[in-house]
Amino acid sequence: MKMGSDLSGLNAGANSVALGLSIVVPVFNEAGGLQALHERLAALSATLRKRYGLVCEVVYVDDGSADATLSIARDLPADGIDVQVVSLSRNFGKEAALLAGLDHARRGAVLFMDGDGQHAPELAEKLVSHWIDDGYDVVYTAKAHRDNEPRLRRAAVRSFYALINWGARQPIPEDAGDFRLLSPRAAAALKQLPERNRFFKGLASWIGFRQFRVDYEPEPRSHGFSTFSTGRLIGLSIEGLTSFSVAPLRIASLLGALLALGAFLFGLSILWETWANGKSVPGYPSLMVGMMTIGGVQLLMIGIVGEYIGKILSELKARPIYFVAEHSVRQAGPIEGAA
Ligand code: UDP
Ligand code: MG
Repeated sequence: MKMGSDLSGLNAGANSVALGLSIVVPVFNEAGGLQALHERLAALSATLRKRYGLVCEVVYVDDGSADATLSIARDLPADGIDVQVVSLSRNFGKEAALLAGLDHARRGAVLFMDGDGQHAPELAEKLVSHWIDDGYDVVYTAKAHRDNEPRLRRAAVRSFYALINWGARQPIPEDAGDFRLLSPRAAAALKQLPERNRFFKGLASWIGFRQFRVDYEPEPRSHGFSTFSTGRLIGLSIEGLTSFSVAPLRIASLLGALLALGAFLFGLSILWETWANGKSVPGYPSLMVGMMTIGGVQLLMIGIVGEYIGKILSELKARPIYFVAEHSVRQAGPIEGAA
């Protein structure tokens, strides 16, 4: 068995380098707002340097954009903030882009932030203060409320979290988003998790350490449209569920046991009717209902088991999670202690 690693020495300790922060921004067709976002990030970097002596870099991960995102990112000025541009060989999805950013981050602490302006850089100051001033390792944001969302969607979200956290030792906080800050040791821990099917919210909570929740209202998108349709969200939920919990399998077993018990009781009642009362039991309708119930439940459960087998297959193939087509680093100034 793999032994746990000691990460305790990584927090700006004895061989201390300049305290730093890597801001990881996955971008997929975000040409419309990238320049404006970069200006806000440069301002954030200046503030953090003044207040905490933090040296910042921003890592833009271009997730196979089809528009001008990459060429705009290449030309962003490295004024007061180092700029890394990591361009993936195709669109691998946000979770893979986040991992690519984490792998390229060189500053220790890592801040994940969307590239569409929904995650306000100004709020990042607050996240940093919870890390540096209060000593939290994982500072995550969560939607303060979902009042503006349809009732059906809210119910779906609630049941998703109930299911995924059923019996979990480390529950995934409800409504947590991907806007989150990890201290150097938390980022190092996250990098050690080897799975290919990544569900960042879950992984960032699973690593433990001192976690802190900040409630916020996401801003409207600065431009363009969200790529996360209902279908994709359902896909992500199934992904999260099957990576993090065996609750669906447990439900399958429970349902199986219940059905078996029901069938047994029904059988007993039939025996009772024929032997004690001498009635002949009408068969066809009840037979059909029983068969269809059992058939339906069985197919559903085979589907659930199939999800897990698919997951095992993709972990077993152990393919790389992304490929980098192009990587550039522009430094704002001399960097002490960069790898
Ligand atoms: N994104 C990405 N790859 C994708 C889809 C999205 O890197 O395949 C990025 C996108 O550019 C944005 C962030 O992930 O910075 C969140 O995406 P989006 O705004 O579409 O999702 P939502 O905010 O609706 O959850
Ligand atoms: Mg968005």
